[in-house]
Amino acid sequence: MASTPLIPLHPATSPVRLAPNGKRFFIWTIGCQMNEADSAKVAAMLQEVGYRRTEDETAADIVVLNSCVVRQAAEDKVAGKLNALAKLKRAKPEVPLVLTGCMVTNQQEKLRERFPHVDLFFDPSDFNQLQRVVPELADLEDDLAQLPHYYAPEAQGGRSGVTAFVPIIYGCNFLCSYCIVPYRRGKETSRPMADIVREVTHLVDGGVREVTLLGQTVNAYGHDLSDGRGLADLLRAVDAIPGLERLRFLTSHPKYMSDEIIDTMAELRTTCEHMNLPVQAGDDEVLRRMRRTYTRDLWRERIAYTRGKMPGVTIATDVIVGFPGETEAQFLQTYDLLQAVACDKVHLAMYSPRPGTLSARWADDIPHEEKQRRHQELEQLQERLCTERNARRLGDTEEILVEGMAKGRWTGRTRGNTLVHFDDERDVLGKLVDVRITRTTPWFLMGEPVGEPH
Ligand code: SAM
Ligand code: SF4
Repeated sequence: MASTPLIPLHPATSPVRLAPNGKRFFIWTIGCQMNEADSAKVAAMLQEVGYRRTEDETAADIVVLNSCVVRQAAEDKVAGKLNALAKLKRAKPEVPLVLTGCMVTNQQEKLRERFPHVDLFFDPSDFNQLQRVVPELADLEDDLAQLPHYYAPEAQGGRSGVTAFVPIIYGCNFLCSYCIVPYRRGKETSRPMADIVREVTHLVDGGVREVTLLGQTVNAYGHDLSDGRGLADLLRAVDAIPGLERLRFLTSHPKYMSDEIIDTMAELRTTCEHMNLPVQAGDDEVLRRMRRTYTRDLWRERIAYTRGKMPGVTIATDVIVGFPGETEAQFLQTYDLLQAVACDKVHLAMYSPRPGTLSARWADDIPHEEKQRRHQELEQLQERLCTERNARRLGDTEEILVEGMAKGRWTGRTRGNTLVHFDDERDVLGKLVDVRITRTTPWFLMGEPVGEPH
């Protein structure tokens, strides 16, 4: 396995980095990319004061869980993990057990009663709380406030340091009737553009070649800033950073997917030909009850416009099946839309009522078996569409950014975000490699390298 490039957390001259202190941290993360980015930040903070990562929770000097509550199943997994850790806590009471993520916001009292063995519950918007169990962090407080979401290889576990997530906007101003996120992550708050550009520059200087800008509604970036600049301006600023090869952003809201953003994606060198645009349902009445604020035609038109500007662009979307009151005819509208538009990736979810949301007041009237059937039908449709689409790529040459190794093979992604595996004797980690596709499946491609890595 190739050696990974090291990303310094600060410029080489920075005096703040503490020597390794022999202590280890364990971080467990569930949920979206925002949680992954937050976990990387916690890891970077702990590294700054001398901790090192361990994948073995029983060997850790601090255990951090980063939680998700978007669906009941995720919340149940967090509760299961917390309960399982009670044994470790009994054996090693001195090891702090910390819970962060969306489960914590506004829920600390209830959680303290339910999980008394947890030492600290901290809100993901308040990383400084970690000082309460890691006092060393207090010495670096001023500096830590500036510490970005660095993806130092050791801070990020399995990831290679080639790609990084960078949050650019927190929270969400929509109130989709099924969604708990606005209650847990608050109102949209954009980071200043200069901070983001500085962070990406630092990442690229450390070896990162691909950056994904993150937000629950990433294309609302700037709406709350006073300088009138938005996502398109930010994309231009980040694209201009020397050494950055690829730029992505997610998740976009259809209502804010403006011509300007799409035109800018098409025009810039680094912005990848890939768009993540959740539709959630293909029926206008369901969309209305979901409070999504757009119609199926609007979503479809945005995709047609994008495809017109960027031939070959790949499209990912999210869909919820079994929303309260969703009839068979309404489900078929979703089926037809997905068939007609033929996305490259569909993240499917079965509706799960979330406490405090509007739809939780309505009967969850689609039986679980029926939700499963609808889920399966869409899964099969998507498998068929992807099988056909990928089969047409046989013999094509694709540019792959190599992110690491899996089962003895190099693995990376196309600009369109398709996973590709290939064999190569050379050390190509972090390199762009042209790969000729020799085998296709619905979910990934296999190939052989051609030419020199760069
Ligand atoms: N902001 C994005 C958008 O507008 O689509 C999505 C963010 S949400 C945290 C991630 C995904 O979780 C959603 O796209 C949706 O499909 C799914 N999701 C959210 N609430 C859900 C619920 N109550 N039941 C099932 N899936 C849900
Ligand atoms: Fe949730 Fe809707 Fe906001 Fe997405 S846009 S985070 S689904 S409320």
